[in-house]
Amino acid sequence: MTASQHGYVEAPARTLAVLARPDVLVVGGGAAGMAAACAAAREGAEVMLVERQGYLGGTLTSVTLGGLCGGYLHQGGGIRPIVGGLYAEMVDRLKLLGAISPTRVFGFVHGVPYDPEALRGMADAWLTESGVKVLLHAFVTEVSVSERRVRWVEVETRAGRAAILPTTIVDTSGDAEVVFRAGGRFSLGDKGRTQHPSQMFRMSGVDCETFFSVPRPQVDALLQGALNDGEPLPRTSVAVYPNPVAGVAHLNATRVTRADGSSLNLTDPWELTQAEMTGRQQASLYARVARERLPGFGEARIVALGASLGIRETRLVQGDQTLTEPDVMQAHKPADRIACSGWPIEDHATQGRTVWRPLPDGEWYGIPFGCLVSSDFDNVLVAGRCLSATHEAQASARVVATCMAMGEAAGTAATMSLSSPTSVRVDVPALQQKLLAHGALLEPSA
Ligand SMILES: Cc1cc2nc3c(=O)[nH]c(=O)nc-3n(C[C@H](O)[C@H](O)[C@H](O)COP(=O)(O)OP(=O)(O)OC[C@H]3O[C@@H](n4cnc5c(N)ncnc54)[C@H](O)[C@@H]3O)c2cc1C
Repeated sequence: MTASQHGYVEAPARTLAVLARPDVLVVGGGAAGMAAACAAAREGAEVMLVERQGYLGGTLTSVTLGGLCGGYLHQGGGIRPIVGGLYAEMVDRLKLLGAISPTRVFGFVHGVPYDPEALRGMADAWLTESGVKVLLHAFVTEVSVSERRVRWVEVETRAGRAAILPTTIVDTSGDAEVVFRAGGRFSLGDKGRTQHPSQMFRMSGVDCETFFSVPRPQVDALLQGALNDGEPLPRTSVAVYPNPVAGVAHLNATRVTRADGSSLNLTDPWELTQAEMTGRQQASLYARVARERLPGFGEARIVALGASLGIRETRLVQGDQTLTEPDVMQAHKPADRIACSGWPIEDHATQGRTVWRPLPDGEWYGIPFGCLVSSDFDNVLVAGRCLSATHEAQASARVVATCMAMGEAAGTAATMSLSSPTSVRVDVPALQQKLLAHGALLEPSA
């Protein structure tokens, strides 16, 4: 969007009421933000989490996923945990609600199907019990900085605008909203090339037994047949998961790009609006094609459309360290790692098929603490899909379990930094000790 297209107006200076002065402010209540807030509060800080939606979960609940990925390492045909801590705790809580189905393994990837509706209520209880003060329907609109420190953030709420004055901030907004509004450095994917977004949806009335007995290459071939017959499907390799709710399947099938196949800039409000509309059109198209061509889908219909387009990648923060493609593919295990992953590079910035680049069997990499520290500030940490990473490395590190491991580390570090308030650059061995003591994994478990 060209801001100057219709001229300018002068916005009057205004005085804001101070809403809160928390030790730690977490901006964004997605996978990373929930973990960051829980971890920070359990370390003893007074923690506030602001979220622009009316519920927690971020992509987990507003977009919805077929399965939680990244929690395991694949080795010799089997899997073993590579993320523990708060991610494992969330899965256990969902299990108690009957909101988790058995883990599905497909070659070198896996997913844990979950019920996104159950997750919303679970998240409310989880964060509240952990001592987090949650403020929903609160959009961070402005950030004030001096001497490398964020001094306050402005939030838009139903009661108008107000200021929050935290000691430390964790930016888990997915789009690096705090760093962007504070004037910190970031890149938009790889010079504007980002992973394409998808509109997710669930269909009810699916004969799951029939559908899930069909080998995946055959499903791909049926969709390829539809494409050959003139159905304008942007993608023929799709991910379909059974949902814990009987007769419901989750479809990750759509792919939204510019007309020439290039990446949209989803920080541009007009492109974002168009993408939302295109995503919904594509969901209707895939639902019809599924009904007409996929075994078990004959009577199926869309029962839930992700409330928002699923955005895989926008701004990637410039951190003290940056996770790179060689770090991932060469399985680099830095001594200062605070999370680890064996997830492949999952490239959706393509046309047609998703390109998977797995690590060697049994291999994994570590994410160093510096990838969570915004270089431009002394009191800002980041976690989740806007970490400091290159476009390729983020295509591996952005899955849910890994985002939660990063969030847990960032939240723990945020509280640790309160005792030496000059910088969030805490002593990493001490941080690692705390993470391990709370069940986080810094290498795959036996
Ligand atoms: C289409 C799609 C399919 C995927 N499939 C899978 C999968 O199958 N399995 C898997 O594990 N992962 C999958 N992923 C990846 C994964 O879901 C996400 O990368 C991860 O959930 C991101 O978590 P996050 O907390 O970093 O960010 P988000 O989930 O984006 O959370 C950010 C939160 O910040 C809030 N926020 C943003 N700006 C502001 C603001 N200014 N003020 C207040 N709040 C704000 C948002 O509302 C949101 O709740 C998929 C992603 C997409 C998009």
